[in-house]
Amino acid sequence: MADIFRLHGPAYKRSHPMPLQHLRAMRAIEVCRTATLGGHRYEYSCGHVDISYNSCRNRHCPKCQTLQKEKWIEARCEDLLPVQYFHVVFTIPSELNPLVIMNQKVMYNILFRAASETIIELSNNPKHLGARTGFIGILHTSFLNFAAE
Ligand SMILES: [Zn+2]
Repeated sequence: MADIFRLHGPAYKRSHPMPLQHLRAMRAIEVCRTATLGGHRYEYSCGHVDISYNSCRNRHCPKCQTLQKEKWIEARCEDLLPVQYFHVVFTIPSELNPLVIMNQKVMYNILFRAASETIIELSNNPKHLGARTGFIGILHTSFLNFAAE
């Protein structure tokens, strides 16, 4: 991803307006574990030298977040009950993307509230499931359609 951002990022940024936090994430990913962020030099007694560059620690960086993601998944697996699970997806119409991008906190709060209330209401209803449910909500964003317009 860093290679793609370094290669095509400048032209893309010129032709597609993006919010500041997206530009910051792109920049962080571009420079993650490169000399730009500095690093550490390890010199061994045999003469071998290892250089380890610092990571960006951006929450969107795939290099930085892979280990953290694996730990999170492992921890969630420990929470699982011996019951059946369902994957439910709630989407926002792409026409609202400009509104969401400019008001992310408010819009995501509305989305999560609406999604959780819908799951609770429908699962509690004896006509559907008649059960008390639990769930984990995860936000997956993709504004490519907006950026391409
Ligand atoms: Zn990183």
